[in-house]
Amino acid sequence: MRDQSSTTASSILRLLPSTDEVLNTTLARQLITETGRKRLTDLARAVIEELRQELIEPTSTEDALTEHSKESFLEVAAERLGRRWASVQSSRIRKVINATGVIIHTNLGRAPLSDAALDATRDAGGYTNLEYDVSTGHRGKRGWSVEKKLTDLTGAEAAVVVNNCAAAAFLVLRVFAQGGEAIVSRGELVEIGGDFRIPDVLVESGATIVEVGTTNRTKLADYERAIGENTKVVLRVHPSNYRITGFTAKPSLASLAELCLRRGVLLYEDAGSGAMIDLSRFGLGDEPEISRSIADGADVVTFSGDKLLGGCQAGIIVGRSDRIEQIRKHPLYRALRVDKIAYAALEATLDAYLAEDAQEKIPVLRMLTLTKEQLHERAQKFAELLPELVELLDGASVVGGGSAPDVSLPTRIVALRHPTLTPDEIERRLRGSEPPVIARIEDDRVVIDLRTVEPRDEAKLSEIVKKALT
Ligand SMILES: *Cc1c(COP(=O)(O)O)cnc(C)c1O
Repeated sequence: MRDQSSTTASSILRLLPSTDEVLNTTLARQLITETGRKRLTDLARAVIEELRQELIEPTSTEDALTEHSKESFLEVAAERLGRRWASVQSSRIRKVINATGVIIHTNLGRAPLSDAALDATRDAGGYTNLEYDVSTGHRGKRGWSVEKKLTDLTGAEAAVVVNNCAAAAFLVLRVFAQGGEAIVSRGELVEIGGDFRIPDVLVESGATIVEVGTTNRTKLADYERAIGENTKVVLRVHPSNYRITGFTAKPSLASLAELCLRRGVLLYEDAGSGAMIDLSRFGLGDEPEISRSIADGADVVTFSGDKLLGGCQAGIIVGRSDRIEQIRKHPLYRALRVDKIAYAALEATLDAYLAEDAQEKIPVLRMLTLTKEQLHERAQKFAELLPELVELLDGASVVGGGSAPDVSLPTRIVALRHPTLTPDEIERRLRGSEPPVIARIEDDRVVIDLRTVEPRDEAKLSEIVKKALT
């Protein structure tokens, strides 16, 4: 008995194609210029091995190997080779359409760059004057023009840019608090986005944490009492993605600055989001405005480049020039500094603020300031292209990215409906399109919020939606 079945199995296995046979199929010969021989060979081997496993242990999937012939195996192998390559390609970093209404969507790459910033990164991709002064022909100072714009915008004496705000916080604490004490309110020992925890950063920087106050209330006197011989830094953290409301208190930054100056300790504020303009009109009055923090007397302030600022990933450090120089001279700065692409994107972003048209030019601000009426108009036009399939509803967009967690922005959302397709299936189809469309499911319906969709992507989006629903 055993002999018979194993003979059958091994004779079937003999029908599997060889790697060369798979590489010789029409499809493989089409793919090879794109994939390269080595990669295509690896994929072909993996496909044949997969088929072998399925023959040894048959599965009951949709594309189970039911027909056992050399031709059919070769055909299946070629088809799977194509699918594997498509899946390699679709996992590349690539454009998606963000229809979630979450403006600073961390999973979708936070802030989208402005057109000017995109152009600047393309130019900066080649040779640039990164460390070269074209007017003298001598070596130039890396990043100085971006730093100058940062000081112009924030009123700080000096600025320096590193990889992200986490790096900036770590660097500042390492330079100023290592081996000493850093005082921080119990209400500000927060975790921001999973792997950035203030207490951990403090410990890693070599500082001893001195907690003051309580979770909801910390007073100036609490800080004053805690300052001792070993105190090096008073740290103020913007809680970003978290709010304590109700019976709360914390001293103003200005009063902390006065205290720190009097007692000779450094005041460092990790502002997180980096609001360069007053955003209180849009309900974001809670976000520290960087120029305000500097005016209030913070010695050093850090913030992200790709949150409310609306630029690329970067950690921006501004403050007193002697302090910034200390940071620049630290060996860690060399390890955390940014490249020419980041400088280019950041500079173009800052230019929009300097020209006072950031609200029109920077996508994050443009999306943030869209009114419900404007969104209704766009949603209505969008709905006209897809009659029967959509319905307009009131909804709310959010800022995201750990900024302004309690702010919800009134919007009009486009809800998709279909007589037979489930919301999960519609959502999956949208995700599988080119470019992928990322939407939300709310109350058992797939909803599209045009707030985060670039107007130039709307035609494509409606085409994709139409296709997904038919
Ligand atoms: C977001 C945030 C960070 C981390 O910034 P990244 O740029 O993501 O590294 C640090 N501190 C605060 C207060 C933040 O809000």
